[in-house]
Amino acid sequence: MSHKKIAMEHDKKIALVAHDNKKQDLIEWAKYNRTLLAHHQIYATGTTGMLLEQELGFKVAKLQSGPLGGDQQIGAKIADGEIDFLIFFSDPLEPLPHDPDVKALLRLAVVWNIPIACNRASADFMISSPLMDGAYDRLVPDYDEYRTRKIARGE
Ligand code: PGA
Repeated sequence: MSHKKIAMEHDKKIALVAHDNKKQDLIEWAKYNRTLLAHHQIYATGTTGMLLEQELGFKVAKLQSGPLGGDQQIGAKIADGEIDFLIFFSDPLEPLPHDPDVKALLRLAVVWNIPIACNRASADFMISSPLMDGAYDRLVPDYDEYRTRKIARGE
């Protein structure tokens, strides 16, 4: 399959999500990286976003709470090219009512070749990458080949 380039601007659209047992971790991480995050556009699921706004003191675009559709809203924004970076501190030890939504979100991040960090160490490596500092062309498979695929139909 050939590829297309999708431009990520210098100011990136970053989605932040944390499950309840990981919210404190994300808040600490975001406070540590506050200056850098303030240069970007931040989106978050509802509760995560509310806490981040309180702690960081700048505006966060808040979607629905995760279990109420927030993860799916972020997935939709990824598909629409409105999010280009995902930090998702997930809880590996608790079953969650919206596990299918989490899986769907991570799948869409892979489909659109979005950088994803699911734990703090990955987030540290991603946020300190020199690529954060400039524009970046994300390579995405040319899905036109998929859209125009032949579908077997009865006569
Ligand atoms: P919340 O959602 O930020 O609204 O708690 C996070 C999630 O559980 O996906």
